[in-house]
Amino acid sequence: MTRIAVIGAGIAGLAAARELASAGLQPVVFDKGRGPGGRTSTRRAPPFAFDHGAQYFTVRDAHFAQVVQSWWAEGVAAPWNGRIVTLEHARARELAEATLRFVGVPGMNALATRMAKELDVRCNTRVARADFSAQGWRLAGDDGASLGEFDRLVATLPHPQALELFGADAAFAPRTTRSVVHPCWAVLLGAAQRLELDFDGAFCADSALSWIARDSSKPGRPPHEAWVLHATPEWTRAHLEASREAVLELLTAEFWRITGLREQRFEHRDAHRWRYALPAPIDGPVEATWVDVERRLALAGDACVGGRIEGAFLSGHAAARAILTGL
Ligand SMILES: Cc1cc2nc3c(=O)[nH]c(=O)nc-3n(C[C@H](O)[C@H](O)[C@H](O)COP(=O)(O)OP(=O)(O)OC[C@H]3O[C@@H](n4cnc5c(N)ncnc54)[C@H](O)[C@@H]3O)c2cc1C
Repeated sequence: MTRIAVIGAGIAGLAAARELASAGLQPVVFDKGRGPGGRTSTRRAPPFAFDHGAQYFTVRDAHFAQVVQSWWAEGVAAPWNGRIVTLEHARARELAEATLRFVGVPGMNALATRMAKELDVRCNTRVARADFSAQGWRLAGDDGASLGEFDRLVATLPHPQALELFGADAAFAPRTTRSVVHPCWAVLLGAAQRLELDFDGAFCADSALSWIARDSSKPGRPPHEAWVLHATPEWTRAHLEASREAVLELLTAEFWRITGLREQRFEHRDAHRWRYALPAPIDGPVEATWVDVERRLALAGDACVGGRIEGAFLSGHAAARAILTGL
């Protein structure tokens, strides 16, 4: 049987592995994180819970719609019917278009947990080296120990990291060099009481914050008032090496300013820096997966198709199809 490794157990890696498994193959998925999910993660700080990465997802593609339908039927995903607005100088305005937004239940990481079921997923395992020879791929971990030998490889790392792992020789290197992935500081706030805001999520204008959301308004979450704030890429870049405490102070102050609320004490405060959060739109034609035919390597992930969960899913699926159709 063809030996296949998938690097990354985010939505792209898991979509690839599931498609390969459904064709009868037995891919091995490696992820450096403690659990699957990547940027669709949930942080629990009882009694609060926060989706500190991806907030929700939308559905356009017919195949992805079918998968989401099955997640919904299983109770792993559900629509989020919160009131989403734009917010500027404490004034909330309705959005021009109605959008159906889905979330994982009980947290965004439920999607990956579901997708990882019945797959061989090895967490806490960073692929530190990937060497190609006539025999195929030889992967090694941080301690230099072998992670195995494989005939085909699907890589779903952020492009800057893929470039480090595969080097400038990879066929897709010229494109990955041009990929830009924006960073994002996220702030997680848990309050003893409901904040007096009549919306559940807001795209912020004229602010260091791009997005704020009442996570506890999503289906299946604990009832305790939980807010997630995301800083803009520009603000994050300017404060990339700032301390967590400094970021908390500055972005919480901005939260009070933009909402117009009186300052209050939070029961829980934390911040998380995503160094690679949101890919910029692709410069050039969009291809769902970028392949290196000679080395039998497919690069997938949201960055190939301009970001977002649906894009990551479709990209991972395309990488698997590339392998199944002869890569
Ligand atoms: C703050 C933020 C907000 C977002 N908001 C939204 C939103 O509202 N809606 C939406 O649709 N999308 C949103 N996104 C984007 C969405 O999260 C991504 O598009 C999607 O999760 C990408 O999936 P992926 O599998 O391509 O990458 P990832 O989820 O990043 O998965 C890559 C995986 O590779 C692993 N990895 C990396 N290097 C190695 C290595 N050397 N060895 C082993 N494993 C490795 C990582 O641990 C990770 O699990 C947001 C993202 C962030 C960070």
